[in-house]
Amino acid sequence: MADIININGKKIYPGESAEAIMCTLSFPTHIVIDIPVFVFRSVNPGPRVLFQAGMHGEEVNGVEVVRSLLKREDIRNPLCGSIILTPIVNVIAFLMNQRELPDGRDLNRCFPGSKGGSMGSRLAYDLMKNVISQIDFGVDFHTGGAKINNYPQVRCSFEDERSIELAKMFSSPFILNAGLRDKSLRKEAYKKGKQILVFEGGESQRFNTFSINEGINSCLRLLKNLNMINTEVEKNNPIFLNDTSWVRAKSSGMFRTSKKFGAFVEKDSIIGKIVSPYAEKEILLFAPADGFLIGINNQPIVNEGDALMNIGVE
Ligand SMILES: [Zn+2]
Repeated sequence: MADIININGKKIYPGESAEAIMCTLSFPTHIVIDIPVFVFRSVNPGPRVLFQAGMHGEEVNGVEVVRSLLKREDIRNPLCGSIILTPIVNVIAFLMNQRELPDGRDLNRCFPGSKGGSMGSRLAYDLMKNVISQIDFGVDFHTGGAKINNYPQVRCSFEDERSIELAKMFSSPFILNAGLRDKSLRKEAYKKGKQILVFEGGESQRFNTFSINEGINSCLRLLKNLNMINTEVEKNNPIFLNDTSWVRAKSSGMFRTSKKFGAFVEKDSIIGKIVSPYAEKEILLFAPADGFLIGINNQPIVNEGDALMNIGVE
């Protein structure tokens, strides 16, 4: 079989670069939105690696990671294999600066999608058919939600050896065990034999330079380990986290912590407090286990039950 990448009818041969359109969506006025994919191929055979972002429209850190990759000479001229970049998968939600599609659906729960389904279902279908079918593996960039800031981490299933191998090569500060969720891209791609690592860094609607830089460096590390680029990147010694545990607000109030993000915390040590604005009470928060502070709620005012701090356990 000839080594052709075919994205929605656009054929890209070894040694070529191209911009292809993976999906086109029409809107009630004359507006038509194309979703571009950028492909850079070496003449030398090698893996086909996808980096994509913007599955959720307001998760801008990943968009900046993939944009930064897109302008690099080493990425545009791989030594072997092919690099496929989609800076924004969910262009519609990106334009609206929101997580979901206009009908309220979460694109990452629309997979594998269908040709005649809702907008999200069609987009998911085209992504599977036109892009996922053409790659070997990839990284999907996300952030924490509104208010929740995630320390740079990559998520994969520890039951899949190939995923762990790729995550080690990617080497973000933390590698998290995460099962496959129904109707997600990761699960549907896995069914087709393709590993998708999920990177999480920072929070939605806000650029986080540290997370962006960790994301870029992890991509470069993965490509360097695959001998696809020859760029020197600082090594990371990732920490493997088997499980995570959220500390929730036992009472409403103002949430304070002086713990350093990403730091190790000891079981039962004080990691923060909730204070009453009328200075009536201070409720101390304790670490549920020995672990690392990998997620934090940046909202100062919290209600009973809100997720405050995510502790990752080795
Ligand atoms: Zn997301």
